[in-house]
Amino acid sequence: MGTPTFDSCRNPAAGPQPPQQERLSPDDGGPWHGSAACRRDEAALFFAPSKEPTAARLSREEAAKRVCARCPVLMECREHALAQPEPYGVWGGLTAAERRVVLSRRRRREAERALPRQRVAG
Ligand code: SF4
Repeated sequence: MGTPTFDSCRNPAAGPQPPQQERLSPDDGGPWHGSAACRRDEAALFFAPSKEPTAARLSREEAAKRVCARCPVLMECREHALAQPEPYGVWGGLTAAERRVVLSRRRRREAERALPRQRVAG
């Protein structure tokens, strides 16, 4: 068994494509792509087709999260998606809405940490 190839659903050359504005360049994201549990034939799980009914979306996202749950690079993928930030799809076991919540909490915590320093400095 050789080095894993870059053929995860995070690869824009693999399988169904996310929206145009969401596609990655082959160099994006770093070496963790090669160890991703998601593979090209699962790409449709991770990105919503247009006008997807809510029940279908929830079912698809849960299936994607099950793949993420067994992924050895879940945290790398999640942090990449938060840092970009990636606006669409399931990344690192989180939907786009869940990532927005995480980012909002992080910003709030950072603001709270900065506040005492500002008071001391002022
Ligand atoms: S965490 Fe999920 S989306 Fe990210 S590389 Fe792993 S399986 Fe793919």
